[in-house]
Amino acid sequence: MKQCDLLIRNVRILTPEYTIEENRYAAIRGNRIEALGADAECPYTAPQTLRGEGKLLMPGLVDGHTHACQYMLRGKLADEYPMVWTRILVPFESGLNEEDCHLSGQLSMLQQIKSGITTTVESGSSHMHAVAQAALESGIRARLARSTMDQGGFIPPHWKETAQECIDRTEAFYRDCNGMGDGRIGVFYAMRQVMSCSPALLEMIADRSRAHNTFVHAHLAEHRDEVSYCLQHYQLRPAEVLDRFSLVNDRLVAAHCVSLSEQEIDLLAEKHVRICHCPRANLGNHGIPKTPRLLHAGLKIGIGSDGGSGCNMDLFEELRLLRFSIQAVQGLPIFDPVILPIRTLLDMLVCGGAHCAGLEREAGKVREGYLADLILLDVEQPHILPTASLVNVLVEGVRASDVTDSIIDGKLVMRDRRILTMDEEKLRADGTQRMKEIYRRAGI
Ligand SMILES: [Zn+2]
Repeated sequence: MKQCDLLIRNVRILTPEYTIEENRYAAIRGNRIEALGADAECPYTAPQTLRGEGKLLMPGLVDGHTHACQYMLRGKLADEYPMVWTRILVPFESGLNEEDCHLSGQLSMLQQIKSGITTTVESGSSHMHAVAQAALESGIRARLARSTMDQGGFIPPHWKETAQECIDRTEAFYRDCNGMGDGRIGVFYAMRQVMSCSPALLEMIADRSRAHNTFVHAHLAEHRDEVSYCLQHYQLRPAEVLDRFSLVNDRLVAAHCVSLSEQEIDLLAEKHVRICHCPRANLGNHGIPKTPRLLHAGLKIGIGSDGGSGCNMDLFEELRLLRFSIQAVQGLPIFDPVILPIRTLLDMLVCGGAHCAGLEREAGKVREGYLADLILLDVEQPHILPTASLVNVLVEGVRASDVTDSIIDGKLVMRDRRILTMDEEKLRADGTQRMKEIYRRAGI
């Protein structure tokens, strides 16, 4: 018999071709999938074995765009009149301290892991060392960034940074945290959005991210105000502005991408930009992206939660929102019932997500040699089985709470929906308490 570290027996597996294979085993050694095969012929033993009967093994999900530090705004933003950003978000986020961000990071990652998310791609806030610490403790894989802003009248003096300070603090974050946890934590650069970054800052971000060969996470083509700002100040559209500062390339993770022109789509496709849609946030605030057109241009698209403040971080649900909004607005008028087919959607969820994290060569597939970032779903439930196609039901019916077990970087992080790395009850109690303190300090 061969020895591995973690073994999953007699399980259904979602293949990289989006078919289901039954009665398989998966052997994990270190942080990689060492072998897959027919369970009847499994040559492995392991100190830890999970029984896979009634379950489906699939790639862990990637939350391609999130805001861990806004987590404690949960329930605070519904039915609020404008300007939510200046009245609530800025006083809230600018008042956060290290401990707030650590706890917020833990709560956000707790929710993500329970939702089947094995990698979080964070667009960032101020106290990112604390969020990196939370990621390290939670066991999640993370690509973190420190948000940068050096202009905009809405920023209170204590939150304002010069371009040089933005860069120096990002450099320190990169130096201290990139590669932590044997590479489980990576650091990207970030620009909040083009309206809040001066030309000097954009230039420096392009320069430093190139020097480190790391990614840049940005909000892009999110809404019409941003387009209007770019047309007024640069006589260019948002993606064209970023291109002018050499930021449009295959190291750019662009979140939202709703209000893009045809030329901008071609530009992003030509430069292999990594796109992340946040369907719920887009539907609420920004509109419906031209997803079929983006895919047709060759772009890879992942799915993001845009943070847990206004949703339950269920990426299966986000995918359904995208599917039906595109179907209603772009499919129906031209009578195209397959404008976004199931396998395309599933590919966005797993491979598109891995692409947002820069992990496309080693995650997003249950494949030998790939990272052991895997989840098990309980499929023997009335909303899933019986079915003519489990692959179709993955998009049509499965929800985050169906995830029972989570393996990240080869380690079991959740078993039977119990998180093994964090004290869930204590975090909830601490969060409830701290939320009140933060709101009191922020005056919201
Ligand atoms: Zn965002």
